[in-house]
This record gives sequence, C-alpha cells and structure tokens, in this order.
Amino acid sequence: MERGPERAVAPPIVLSTTFERDEHGEYAGGFVYARDDNPNRRALERALADLEGGIDAAAFASGSAAAAAIFQALRPGDHAVVAHDCYYSVRVMLDEVFVPWGLAVTYADCADADAVRAAIRPHTRLVFIETPSNPLMRVTDIAAAAALAHDAGALLACDNTLATPILQRPLALGADLVVQSTTKYVAGHHDTMGGALIAARANATWDRIRAQQRLCGAIPSPFGAWMTLRGVPTLATRVRAQTANALHLARRLEGHPAVRAVLHPHLPSHPAHAVAVRQSDGSGALFSIRVHGGASDALRVASRLRRFANATSFGGPESLVEHRASVEGAQSRTPPDLLRLAIGLEDPDLLYDDLDAALTPSA
Ligand code: PLP
Repeated sequence: MERGPERAVAPPIVLSTTFERDEHGEYAGGFVYARDDNPNRRALERALADLEGGIDAAAFASGSAAAAAIFQALRPGDHAVVAHDCYYSVRVMLDEVFVPWGLAVTYADCADADAVRAAIRPHTRLVFIETPSNPLMRVTDIAAAAALAHDAGALLACDNTLATPILQRPLALGADLVVQSTTKYVAGHHDTMGGALIAARANATWDRIRAQQRLCGAIPSPFGAWMTLRGVPTLATRVRAQTANALHLARRLEGHPAVRAVLHPHLPSHPAHAVAVRQSDGSGALFSIRVHGGASDALRVASRLRRFANATSFGGPESLVEHRASVEGAQSRTPPDLLRLAIGLEDPDLLYDDLDAALTPSA
C-alpha cells in the first residue's frame, strides 16, 4: 500500500465502503465501492502475487471461498480431476454444492501420473491438486501434473497452503493457479480468516474469477485484509522456524516405540521424498503421525498433550494437535490412528518431551 501524506509505516485501515466522485464523475482515488476493491485488499493482493510469482491475486474471505471461486469459474458440464486426498471440506463442497450444480468431478490419486491420465476426459477443464496434502502429507509432482493438464487443454490449480510460497512456488513449476488459505501461515496468528487465488497469467478463467470475486462478494473486510497483510513481512522467518521445528520433531518421533509411522515429505522414509526435495525447500510445519493401536489410542494421546492445544487449523505460533478422522466424520479417508500435528514456534524439544509423555502409557 502506498504511504499516505502522513507517512505512516503501518498502513491505515480504510473502512469506507464507498469513495467520492469528483465534479466530472471520475474516481480520482481509483476506488469506487469496497466490494469491488479497497486499498487494504489491493495491497494484500499485490503482496500475494509477488510472493507466489504471479501476475495477479484475488483475495477472498476464506480459503474455501477462494477454492469455490475456481469451481464457479467453470461451467455446468465441465469436468474436473481433483486429488482424492485434498482438504476434506473441499471434497464436501464439491459433492454437496458443485456436483449438484452440474460440475463433473473425478477424484484421482494425483500422486500417480497414470491415475491422472486415466481420469482425464475430453471435457476436462481443470486438474486440482494439493501438495503436500492435508493431513495425509502425500506429494504430487507439480510439473508432471501441469504437463498432463496442459496436454488435455486443462488448467492446473495447486493448493499451496501447507508449503507456502516461501518453500514452494507452483506457478514456476507450471501451475496456472495457486490456492492459499491465508488463514494459516500467511496471516499466521490463528486470528484471521482469509484466502486467495494467484494467477500465473491473464486468461478468460482469471477474468471469470475476478468477476466472481466482485459479483458474489466473498471478500475479506478491510480489517481482515490488513490483518493478513500484517503477516507478510514475518512470513518467511516464521515459516522457516516452524518448518525446522517440525522436521526436528518428525525425526525424533520416527524412533519412538509408540509411533507406527511419521508422515513427513522431507523425511527420507516418505515414498515421494525425492519429488518433495526436488520441488520444495521444505513441506511446512504440519505433519502427521500414526500411533500403534487405533482411534482410542490416538485420542488418548491427543487428550494427554499439555503443550499442544487440541484444536483444528494450523499456521500460527501455537502448536495444535487434531484427530482428523473424528473431525472429518463418516466419509473420512484418514486412518483412525492418525494425529495431525501443527507445529508452532515453541522449543521443539519441549514439544517432544510433551509428546513422549503422552505417547508413553506409563508416563
Ligand atoms: N486448503 C487447505 C489445504 C486447508 O487446510 C484449508 C483449511 O484447513 C483450506 C484450504 C480451507 O481454508 P479456510 O479454512 O480458510 O476456508
């Protein structure tokens, strides 16, 4: 945001919903009505486009609203190939809103190029991936998915919420659109909802997305945009520190007798470790563990943790734990023994001691 005449370093929040015309009926300040555009939202969109290396960005009221804008930009009868392990609510949104509306959707294992190829149809317009995926931490080769989508005349959208643009730049790897739930790392303090789409290039789909944003109005408030932009200058430092904490913990947990598996793409034990290392500098500060036993053992561990809040979401300075299968309900594909760990900025060895105590039955 340009500095105003008062030269305030932290930008002011412009709450006005409407902007004055001059005597010629022109808008000299460049703003008309806050659903169309607002100084705080415009500044956030520019910052997000820069971070992801896109030509433009559109900010929304949540990550879900951002994802919905992509599907709304398609037309009834169009077909989308969607990663079967994408964020659970996106699947529910597709099944309950967009499939009844007329979108044809095939869920595919997008980590497997042959499965994507087999899912593509003549009227496929979109391939939608999330990598790493929440909470299974599976990895899709972004460049390979982009090539498959483009060969089919489709666009590739990549949800980059977990890795953030600090660690992974999908647009540089061939994706056409990036989805961000800025609720997570970008805003970064567990206190602001938001989402964004970032475009690699101008095209008809981007024009439709921009029109959806303006016409349907699922926009962040000036305060929400301001809160999210406030996270940008500290994003790289926070993400790198939290990512290092998470990797340190993941390594230590791999040796724990009560842990069956650690799902973390930057561990050599991950099946797509080579792809993860090639396309990202880290996978972020979210990872999952599978404990020995079943759902009741995992729930017991979650309830015994003292330094982790048993809460949904991720991306803030406080570490969180969640038993995703309980939250996702009957249609969940998440194993019942899985706990998702969102690592914050605390001392990782203190977090490990807490996990060790919770995982050890006699402790
Ligand atoms: N994408 C991913 C990977 C997520 O984890 C989430 C939320 O957890 C979303 C999208 C949806 O974002 P929001 O909760 O901001 O609507």
